[in-house]
Amino acid sequence: MPASTSFLLDSTEVVDAFGSDLFRRVVNPNKKSESFFLFDKTLKKEWKALWNGTQWRMEHPKRDVEWENLRSGVWNYIVPCIRTSDGKPFAWCSRCENILIHPTVNKTGTNALRHHPLSQKCQNKAKINGQKNIGEFLAQQKKVSLLIITMISTK
Ligand SMILES: [Zn+2]
Repeated sequence: MPASTSFLLDSTEVVDAFGSDLFRRVVNPNKKSESFFLFDKTLKKEWKALWNGTQWRMEHPKRDVEWENLRSGVWNYIVPCIRTSDGKPFAWCSRCENILIHPTVNKTGTNALRHHPLSQKCQNKAKINGQKNIGEFLAQQKKVSLLIITMISTK
């Protein structure tokens, strides 16, 4: 067995242990055996270290993956994440809690994500969670960030 193979296997375990301490873990509602770490912009350095150690990153060293600052503003409610088993990037919808494709990984762009909140899948779940529509949801999100900003600035 080449040395690099055992390194990859070892590093997946290290990644999992490292990530569990720092990043929120979510489970794929459609495939319970799959879990994901959510990107946290306050821990960018740790995120890079975590992601660079994953199997997926080592197999795709030249792939450009965007974690924030996507133009369409979809990141307001969709959080980039990586699969804990191999580090492959995905996106998590904080509204319906489904796992979606990552726009810069499959090169699909952000259109699919932008239309996602209008999809039946997302709307049905949002209704269960007591949200009337996406406008209301985004307003809620905005209130939360404003509250956080106020808390930080009054410190
Ligand atoms: Zn959704």
